[in-house]
Amino acid sequence: MKTLNDFNFNSKKALVRVDFNVPLDENFKVTDANRIEAAKPTIDKILADGGSVILMSHLGRPKGKEDKYSLKHIVDTVAQVLEVPVIFASDCRGTIAQNAASNLKPGEVLLLENLRFYEEEEAGDVSFSKDLASLGDIYVNDAFGTAHRAHASTTIIAQFFPDNKCFGSLLAKEIESLNRVLNNSVKPVTAVLGGSKVSSKITVIENILDKVDHMIIGGGMTFTFIKALGGKVGNSICEDDKLDLAIEILHKAKEKGVHIHIPVDVVAANAFSNDADTQIVDVREIPDGWQGLDAGPKSLENFKEVIMASKTILWNGPLGVFEMEKFAHGTITLGEYIAESTANGAFSLVGGGDSVSAVKQFGLEDKMSYVSTGGGAMLEMLEGKVLPGIQAILD
Ligand code: AMP
Repeated sequence: MKTLNDFNFNSKKALVRVDFNVPLDENFKVTDANRIEAAKPTIDKILADGGSVILMSHLGRPKGKEDKYSLKHIVDTVAQVLEVPVIFASDCRGTIAQNAASNLKPGEVLLLENLRFYEEEEAGDVSFSKDLASLGDIYVNDAFGTAHRAHASTTIIAQFFPDNKCFGSLLAKEIESLNRVLNNSVKPVTAVLGGSKVSSKITVIENILDKVDHMIIGGGMTFTFIKALGGKVGNSICEDDKLDLAIEILHKAKEKGVHIHIPVDVVAANAFSNDADTQIVDVREIPDGWQGLDAGPKSLENFKEVIMASKTILWNGPLGVFEMEKFAHGTITLGEYIAESTANGAFSLVGGGDSVSAVKQFGLEDKMSYVSTGGGAMLEMLEGKVLPGIQAILD
């Protein structure tokens, strides 16, 4: 796996695919610069070597050239974060881009206009990729958030750099973190899978059954398992067409020696609302008209025991409807257990969807070993897929 440290960028122009798809307010000011900050280590290394940096990114989903999606809006923020001036090219292709790139001197940073102003980007067009490739000497992919897309700048372009391509430090960290959880893990390994539906997590569950010792299943998925086991789930979210699948998963887990932990009690509500009445009930006896929206206290005690004994923890998906304060307790408490276990030496990876927002919202981000930056991309990696953007660097 080639990384930045395999190259000396002195006098080289590095063409770096970053994910600067940042949120903007109505005055086109960046409201969250996390993604720009995440790319800083890669850019710093290239500049420190004496190289120059050509940054390419998409922003939003423009239909053609739409001013509101111009990367010109983010130039000042990029310069502030990187602490160097940033030159802007108002096109990512053609003479404007070519001139800007050829005038670039060591130590300088150039930001190209939104790649998605050309439909060739998402189409993975080869000649568009070739044009982009002509701008730099070494290709660096540091855009984890789009690594699962075979777009021109994330995948197709790599073929024009047979020997001169590598992962940026953010992308390398994502791959290493996942490897530490699924391939080179210290046992016992625990996966916590929450979220709303079994159907959206089935491929993840199947893939990681071979890799973990314990699997905690929570969130809305709980009730498909409970109903399949003969319990009464009331109005809880439940996929009736997945009951056989749930039983099959439990059988497979048993065969593989994986311990499955499902909530034993839940916070049940008489409506899907923060104003609903609630009661703690046995997960197998949810009254008609009531629905389970969070894990109950006994379940959390059980999960605590598993988490505290784990040396490697993967967390994907909330334990309850954490967006409503009344049903956030389980997710927050689980996050606190994982934080404590991490402080005691476990490696924890949070990734692949809503658990990342939960961890950020509840101030637990710095207490996890690694919080993934790419929702869809991490989910596909957890499903065992090789992402095209990663494969293209390895080829
Ligand atoms: P996912 O995108 O599959 O990770 O699912 C995340 C969503 O699952 C969040 O929006 C939660 O509100 C939702 N969720 C978690 N627990 C439950 C539950 N018991 N009932 C309904 N939705 C839930």
